[in-house]
Amino acid sequence: MVLEKNFRKYSHVVVTGGAGFIGSHLCEEYLKQGAAVTAIDNLVTGSFKNIAKLEGTKGFRFIEHDISASMPDVGEFDLMLHFACPASPVDFAKMPLEILKVDSLGTFNSLDAATKAKARYVLASTSEVYGDPLEHPQKESYWGNVNSIGDRSCYDEAKRFAEATTVAYRRKLGTDSGMVRIFNTYGPRMRLNDGRVVPNFCGQALRGEALTVYGDGQQTRSFCYVTDLVDGIIRYAATDRTEPVNLGNPKEFKIRDFADFILKNIPQSNSKIESRPLLHLDDPKQRRPDISRAKEWLGWEPRVSLEEGIKKTIEYFRTVL
Ligand code: UDP
Repeated sequence: MVLEKNFRKYSHVVVTGGAGFIGSHLCEEYLKQGAAVTAIDNLVTGSFKNIAKLEGTKGFRFIEHDISASMPDVGEFDLMLHFACPASPVDFAKMPLEILKVDSLGTFNSLDAATKAKARYVLASTSEVYGDPLEHPQKESYWGNVNSIGDRSCYDEAKRFAEATTVAYRRKLGTDSGMVRIFNTYGPRMRLNDGRVVPNFCGQALRGEALTVYGDGQQTRSFCYVTDLVDGIIRYAATDRTEPVNLGNPKEFKIRDFADFILKNIPQSNSKIESRPLLHLDDPKQRRPDISRAKEWLGWEPRVSLEEGIKKTIEYFRTVL
């Protein structure tokens, strides 16, 4: 990607969650741009495989470490991207305490380090801060509809807390911080067994198993290809913006229709579609980003079509299988 002249460039980028799905793509892109990159990850959901090809690249370093406990010494740096956090709804039941810790203690630790280094700081926030939204599509100005004791609350509230912490550091300590709100993203390096709808449907279709549609399948999501998302994050990080920006693809699908779409893209599959009970009672009924702010502030909008992105993702899952 080519950034406009007035966008900032960085020489050393620290990525927490750097061995994760999105984090590893960020590391790769910043290395391509000539920055040194330090990836920090405790590998609780991230994988060394995601960054294996970066090992040995000039300027790349991986540190296995839990940032909820402390921040490792990484020397001088000028950008910190805080992307460490399990993010699949299946993880919400398995690792609620890890999620709450990394978005609270981990956010404090990473913000302290960025503040001390006088570095730019970008928090990976999420569309989950809008909860089960009563406004549609979701604009950044919407305050959300979150059940603080629901079965997704460990993630939703943790990210809302992380947003509040990021803002408080800026107000109180002058930290050069901002945040992006990431909507459903898919692409190579997603964990095949992470339980989210894209890996589930693709894996099921490739294995000839039934595609499991939770609930009535009328709930909606909008899916953004990972390279588009990374482009948006890099653009945001390169500005002085402090307020949140939605990053996602506004093309909205009913989950039942999405199952048909996946089967159409794996024509040799003989899988059927089956209904299953909802995994979470608080499963948001609709979700679609309003990306006017990203267009205006960053000159960004997704470019990869779902057909193109899903082909590449299916190819990736084939190799994993
Ligand atoms: N979903 C589904 N079948 C699956 C996995 C997910 O019908 O095998 C639904 C899920 O109930 C939700 C949507 O797909 O409505 C997106 O789920 P995902 O876990 O990918 O992420 P979310 O957007 O809920 O965080």
